[in-house]
Amino acid sequence: MTQTLIKGATILTMDDDAREFTGDVLIDGGVITAVGPDLPQGDAKVVHAEGCLLTPGLVNTHHHLYQTLTRAVPGGQDALLFGWLKTLYPIWSRFGPEEMYVSASIGLAELALSGCTLTSDHLYLYPNGSRLDDTIAAAQDIGMRFHPTRGAMSIGESNGGLPPDSLVEQEPAILEDCIRVVDAFHDARDGAMVRVGIAPCSPFSVTRDLMRDAAILARDKGVMLHTHLAENDEDIAYSLEMFGCRPGQYAEDLGWTGSDVWHAHCVKLDGSEIDMFARSRTGVAHCPCSNCRLGSGIAPLRDMRDAGVPVGLGVDGSASNDAGNLIAEARQAMLLQRVARGADAMSSREALWIATRGGAEVLGRHDCGQIAVGKRADIAIWDMNGIEAAGSWDKAAILLAGPTRVKELFVEGRQIVQGGHLVSIDLEQMIGRQNRLAKALIQ
Ligand SMILES: [Zn+2]
Repeated sequence: MTQTLIKGATILTMDDDAREFTGDVLIDGGVITAVGPDLPQGDAKVVHAEGCLLTPGLVNTHHHLYQTLTRAVPGGQDALLFGWLKTLYPIWSRFGPEEMYVSASIGLAELALSGCTLTSDHLYLYPNGSRLDDTIAAAQDIGMRFHPTRGAMSIGESNGGLPPDSLVEQEPAILEDCIRVVDAFHDARDGAMVRVGIAPCSPFSVTRDLMRDAAILARDKGVMLHTHLAENDEDIAYSLEMFGCRPGQYAEDLGWTGSDVWHAHCVKLDGSEIDMFARSRTGVAHCPCSNCRLGSGIAPLRDMRDAGVPVGLGVDGSASNDAGNLIAEARQAMLLQRVARGADAMSSREALWIATRGGAEVLGRHDCGQIAVGKRADIAIWDMNGIEAAGSWDKAAILLAGPTRVKELFVEGRQIVQGGHLVSIDLEQMIGRQNRLAKALIQ
């Protein structure tokens, strides 16, 4: 196997002892085989990282990659969540496989350039022959570790739902396609590049039966469950009115708690719901920029962490962020807790832990998210010699002063960003394709 020796970096390991030191990392194939000062070079290819910060690759736990084609749509720029959705549904209903592939490629490229090596995705609409396969192809072409989830909506406008009927599916067909994509793509082994999850869009876009059946199917197949939960006040009001209980109770009643479940947002979880999530090891994808962008509120991240809830970060769909920069998202998470709780509420190191190890644990990836022997070689190298960190007394405090674009990025030991540029696909050409598709949708 090919060996790579990364030399001379300041290493923030995120391992069990939270070790920090200046030294080297040896990669053999897809695995980290040695970490420490002055490692012997042997036959390894050397990557010089003197003056750089080396961290685990960042992990994104919530996204809708297809939305990268609908950033900053004028009618949705200043709307609240439900109004925003109603503006965008008619546009999304014109998507097909090409839009899904190109939009996902751009979203994944943006994540990679911001230090992300593992991302989940939540694709819950399949117009005009689109399939989960389209986004998996995009991740494979870029070389990113990918956890796509087979989302779904089944309650259309004619049944009192939000989406137009043309964007919803029949529930038996949804379950059938969930089985198809799990059987075709899910890999449960250590080092897996693709793991599939099952993910009805939200409790208000599918029936109680589908929520329950999805949970039964996921357990039968040994895959994870994901959805949106308790995102804002409208969400809580809807749950109380339609289901007669809060979202946490609804989730628990239908089998949607446990270490194989993670929920996006959870801005409005109350104290007893936080305790229940901690007890059941139910994960949360915290999406601070999206919560700011849509005015949803400040998630009780400090309380969740203190209670022991597994928490990762998510950039959320590009139409509700509208950016997809994960290291910037980590900074936002840190700042937002300080707005709510004071300057000592969250450190740069803790927010970066959530963005790496925290996310890996939420996604059930105990083989990723830390720089340690035997873990997968998913590594981000940040150039601290540039203007963003000039004058910094603590180069490891990258969320206070540091770059937002990665210098080198390794996924499963393969380098996909080199010298700040994506090397696995032709990014300029992909941006051109994306802009042509966006133009056609506007007309
Ligand atoms: Zn979302």
